[in-house]
Amino acid sequence: MNQTLFDAPGRFYKGNLHTHSTLSDGVLSPQDVCLRYADRGYDFISLTDHFVGRFDYPITDTTRMRTKNFTTILGAELHSGANSAGELWHILAVGLPADFAPSNTPTFQPRDDQETGPQIAQRAADAGAFVAIAHPHWSALTEADARSLQAAHAVEVYNHGCDVECDRGYGLQTLDTLLNEGRRVTLCATDDAHFATPDHFGGWVMVKATDNDPDLLLDALKQGHHYSSQGPDFHNILWTDDEVTIECSAVNSVTVQGRGSGTSQIVGDTLTRVTLPLGRVASSPWARISLIDAKGKRAWSNPVWKTDDGWV
Ligand SMILES: [Zn+2]
Ligand SMILES: [Zn+2]
Repeated sequence: MNQTLFDAPGRFYKGNLHTHSTLSDGVLSPQDVCLRYADRGYDFISLTDHFVGRFDYPITDTTRMRTKNFTTILGAELHSGANSAGELWHILAVGLPADFAPSNTPTFQPRDDQETGPQIAQRAADAGAFVAIAHPHWSALTEADARSLQAAHAVEVYNHGCDVECDRGYGLQTLDTLLNEGRRVTLCATDDAHFATPDHFGGWVMVKATDNDPDLLLDALKQGHHYSSQGPDFHNILWTDDEVTIECSAVNSVTVQGRGSGTSQIVGDTLTRVTLPLGRVASSPWARISLIDAKGKRAWSNPVWKTDDGWV
């Protein structure tokens, strides 16, 4: 059975879901951020400024930066409540309404009389947003923290800014822990660009949609119709009960991952079409694919789940 993503109508649109501007602590104006991404060939971004009182709770209005070939999804990085490290939650919310009610978060210090992280995440999801657990390694999130964010659609498994600035950019273990517990989450790679360091153009999503339209892109993200990348591209993934065939841009390794320590891998040179026996992954309830190219750049599929109709 083919993965739904590649059967879905439309084409892939490249986007960055996590970005800051001068409306919070970024260096560039909202317009300049959009121009940089459009010039780099991105189809869309979400400007996700820090939703705190110090910055007047911005849902940055990027609608005027939309063009024929470039669009934007309104969003914010939400902050409310303390995680188990005693620090303020960071929650990515892409697709917020412009009038999303402010939280009670005057600064980056958590306080007792504000929503918890799980509560504000739920409020964002209820308002229509695609919600992701932001930079779990940088935030020192525990498994219990990640588990508590029940409204999250996805885990941010790569945050380019956190990778460049403090070598804490990855969240794959958080993702796999939730998958092992049966949580139906997807994943995303982002920049978290502030443009004060080389923290941009390093992690993105490729979203399959029928048009480069904010509502269609958001719907596709919530359905998991995307993959995430630092460089390589997936062209197709074809699952059967005991093997998977992957077509992709040239890479040096292709790995299928499943529950626990279950993996199956092929390493080589300029691999563009491989068929992997699932091995132990065949008995896993979920499976996902990682690619690594000659420069060490990675791409990740969203997980698929085993059903009576095969992997979907
Ligand atoms: Zn953050
Ligand atoms: Zn951020």
